[in-house]
Amino acid sequence: MASLSLQHIDKIYDNNVQAVYDFNIDIKDGEFIVFVGPSGCGKSTTLRMVAGLEDISAGKLLIDGKDCTTLPAKDRDIAMVFQNYALYGHMTIYENMAFSLMLAKEDKYVIHEKVMAAAEILGLTQVLNRKPNQLSGGQRQRVAMGRAIVRNPKVFLFDEPLSNLDAKLRGSTRREIKLLHKRLGTTMIYVTHDQTEALTLADRIVCMSMGHVQQIGTPLELYDHPKNLFVASFIGLPPMNLFSLKAEDGKYYVEGIETHLPERVVKAIKETNKKEYVIGIRPEDIRLGNDFVLDVNLNENTGHFTLTHGKLFGKTSVAKFRDWQRFDIGDQVKVSFDEEKVHLFDAETTEAIL
Ligand code: ADP
Repeated sequence: MASLSLQHIDKIYDNNVQAVYDFNIDIKDGEFIVFVGPSGCGKSTTLRMVAGLEDISAGKLLIDGKDCTTLPAKDRDIAMVFQNYALYGHMTIYENMAFSLMLAKEDKYVIHEKVMAAAEILGLTQVLNRKPNQLSGGQRQRVAMGRAIVRNPKVFLFDEPLSNLDAKLRGSTRREIKLLHKRLGTTMIYVTHDQTEALTLADRIVCMSMGHVQQIGTPLELYDHPKNLFVASFIGLPPMNLFSLKAEDGKYYVEGIETHLPERVVKAIKETNKKEYVIGIRPEDIRLGNDFVLDVNLNENTGHFTLTHGKLFGKTSVAKFRDWQRFDIGDQVKVSFDEEKVHLFDAETTEAIL
């Protein structure tokens, strides 16, 4: 187990593309950290710098307080699990899991014990004599994890490990990874573009966009208090509804429509005294009520909740209602907001105010 410290880390590739800007985080021993953001935002590059697979252009990487910025990958005691499993097709599952220990000339009885223990944890005991092509995608991903576990590394790195699995397997393998972390207690860094994986797995999330860290915090912090419009619209599914808000002569216009606002929002506007804001309302914070009209243009029932799409203040929006709602296209549904949950952003800087 290990603590890590990434200090002012930049990555500039040879073609002069800067993929990562001034990345800073102190990761505690045993923490589960998820890097999340859209494709191309620099998540994998950062992970690969931690692994030692990419040079660090500027800044420092400490592992357990020791400067490892230029330490070769093989000396970092870090194991990485990739999206495409990277298993050896001609070897059995047992041999795949034993391989790195054999290379390290570990005693064969010790190897056997470690492989059997990892297989037990991962439910692979029955398939140890098979070849990778005789396993399901989910099982192959578990073998890839097993190969990492037997090495007993200080840190586990995962690069989009679930992307090749179908939706059902993604859910179950995600839960296995979470349980594995609870069981092993090893520091883990996990890269994904999927905000659900980030929210369900992480002790802390690092949300990135275009090479810049946007916010670091617990899943609940990012969900309840997104620092800016990027995080607000990236975390949460369906995403937060965003509306333009103008303040003029003590009157408030949402998407150009004069609107009465909750007292706490009015107070924040008076304190910040700007002209243009963005107001954010999560789909789940809209409820049936009496204040506003949602013009329905699509209703999706899922059993225990309903996603109702339509126009709110003339803008395409979505509400998430409890239970099965029998709305139809063209219905005008009266709604209210949970006033305590309304978010407010500075339209110019995109930073959160409330
Ligand atoms: P993510 O993992 O968030 O999808 P990456 O870290 O893979 O993003 O990529 C970040 C940026 O760096 C992208 O613009 C990508 O095109 C660029 N990039 C990645 N690898 C290389 C490379 N080997 N050479 C040049 N540019 C690269």
